[in-house]
Amino acid sequence: MPENEALQRRRRLAPALAEQKLDCLIVSSRVNIRYLTGFTGSNALMLVTADHAVLFTDPRYRTQAREEVSCAVRVVKGQLLPALASLVKRERLRRVGFERDHTSFNAYENLNANLPLRASALPVAGLVEPLRRVKSESEIAAIRLSVATASQAFAKAMAGLKVGMSESELATELEYQMRRLGAEKPAFETIVASGARTALPHARPTAKTLSHNQLLLIDMGAFRNGYASDMTRMAFIGRPGREVRRLYGAVLKAQAEAVAAVREGVTAGAVDRQARRVLRAEKLDRAFVHATGHGLGLEIHEAPRLGKREKTPLEAGMVITIEPGAYLPALGGVRIEDTVVVTRQGCEILTPTSKDLLIF
Ligand code: ZN
Ligand code: ZN
Repeated sequence: MPENEALQRRRRLAPALAEQKLDCLIVSSRVNIRYLTGFTGSNALMLVTADHAVLFTDPRYRTQAREEVSCAVRVVKGQLLPALASLVKRERLRRVGFERDHTSFNAYENLNANLPLRASALPVAGLVEPLRRVKSESEIAAIRLSVATASQAFAKAMAGLKVGMSESELATELEYQMRRLGAEKPAFETIVASGARTALPHARPTAKTLSHNQLLLIDMGAFRNGYASDMTRMAFIGRPGREVRRLYGAVLKAQAEAVAAVREGVTAGAVDRQARRVLRAEKLDRAFVHATGHGLGLEIHEAPRLGKREKTPLEAGMVITIEPGAYLPALGGVRIEDTVVVTRQGCEILTPTSKDLLIF
């Protein structure tokens, strides 16, 4: 992360603290801590006030924290919370917000037991997450690299595709290639589904072998420098019949028209409805059983969600997926997914992989 970027992010948090009348916020989500400091370790808490921030971690991360973090760091032996609470006391902070979505009941009890008498622990939600919706140049660059990594891994793994291979073997190969190309890990459990199993939108790869005259669905993504990518592509082993081609063509059209609807100021719901309109004209709307897409970044699923009723207006710099699908139990399912960046006039598709049905 560029030197001052973390500082700018923490500054953008100050108005949210003021609005909630908080003296400070305890950040416990690892992803939010990473976003606000650059710290990538697994054990940390953060105390943020309007004008400063302190990261608490344990001695295993002493060196790493010094390298990664620009704010103050306290290295604590044992539990982090008592050390954080004593800082709350010393600074006479009263209204102490904590992230209700990222705090266990145990941690909450522990917090109450440790806070000074005059301080109160106030559950808050959605203070850091909205800051993460619009990506900076450096974040878009990281996502671009993650997308390229997944697409290159896809090309390499698919070049070795053979009939008789199992779904799990192909998934393993895709993940191996992503790591070889520099990914830390897959962004989620890679989905490889063949034949009738393509009708399960979130199929897990199994020992089922790839065979002739079947659809093949691959949904994959990488984590690279902490940032996710997400893509779904379809292949067919043999010659696809008329019904499969019709299904594929309809989803491809829905995907293209949803992409064309993306632009700053348009609501997330309007993009979803565009995809649904196309599929309705093909009598496939009832086979489209999920939202059209989601934001991604440090997590694979972030705001905004591209669902029918979502009123969030898209903003330039948001990175979202566009992934309509149609699932017919008798025939199979088709989903086509790209990662795109919202711009003022439209969007840029980051995913370079062709959207033609791959034929083997
Ligand atoms: Zn996906
Ligand atoms: Zn997705």
